[in-house]
Amino acid sequence: MATFLSYHDLQQQGILYSEAHALQYLINVGILRPHQYCEECQTYMELKSCPTARYSDGYNWACPDDIHLLSVRADSVLHRRKISFTSFLHLLWLFCNRISVSDAARLVSSNIKTVRTLFTSLRQCMAEDLLDNGVRRKIGGPGHIIEIDESKFGRRKYNRGRRVVGKWILGGYCRTTGECFLTECTNNKRDHHTLLRLIKQNVLPGTIILTDKWKGYNSLSHHGFIHLVVNHRQGFVDPLTGVHTNTCEGMWFHAKKHMRQGHGRTRVDSTAVSIALCEFVWLKKFGLTRSDSSIRQMFNRDIPQLMSRVFS
Ligand SMILES: [Zn+2]
Repeated sequence: MATFLSYHDLQQQGILYSEAHALQYLINVGILRPHQYCEECQTYMELKSCPTARYSDGYNWACPDDIHLLSVRADSVLHRRKISFTSFLHLLWLFCNRISVSDAARLVSSNIKTVRTLFTSLRQCMAEDLLDNGVRRKIGGPGHIIEIDESKFGRRKYNRGRRVVGKWILGGYCRTTGECFLTECTNNKRDHHTLLRLIKQNVLPGTIILTDKWKGYNSLSHHGFIHLVVNHRQGFVDPLTGVHTNTCEGMWFHAKKHMRQGHGRTRVDSTAVSIALCEFVWLKKFGLTRSDSSIRQMFNRDIPQLMSRVFS
């Protein structure tokens, strides 16, 4: 069983200042592969110190008679990255603290491009972790209540007025489990066909869905969902049914804040947006907030576990 250490413990035990100790720690927690199997020799490889310069990490995986060699970074997020193990641990801590790429690069005296690709890879791992055999895992199901709403992400035009230029995002929050989904509206449309298709992709049949009166949601009850509506013109909670989508409103606030912080300028490129949305959903799924204990838990446990899941 892996022993996860806090950043403070890593500092105290000198692990943050020794490449050999950092390597051992990364193996222990599963960020680097704990073992490698050689298909050709049909045997497990051994971790050996590597005095030659072939692998600059000082260690490599080797078959018993040293025929086949493999980097300790193989099949991991550190594969072919020019980052020392100690710098990686520092960067991971900064990532968990949602420090921007440029600040993180400055703090560890690293190349900004190297840090950007690392942070992007960590977020891609989160996106991948939300998939089930390559398909987005659906939320909800019979007995589950999900609030669904669309919101436009972007800036107010010319920084004033009500007109917002940006992307329509469809989101849902499951009151039963606290899980959510966020997805870009195809071609930036929020018509009936687009919304229905996206909801079917993200929500299991039988779910109780709460929405506002937007006509795009009209036919949900004909497609296997139980659909309840709140009329926002008559206040935020329907006086008759008590239906509301307030939790979804709260989610928009946090998601937009998330997109503004740690992701630099408002990105228009689609991949960056969808990865940032996935990161938000992943953090929410694991109950991670901006609190100190969440940041510690993400660094000590949730990211290492994520890495061993994604690279297993
Ligand atoms: Zn071999």
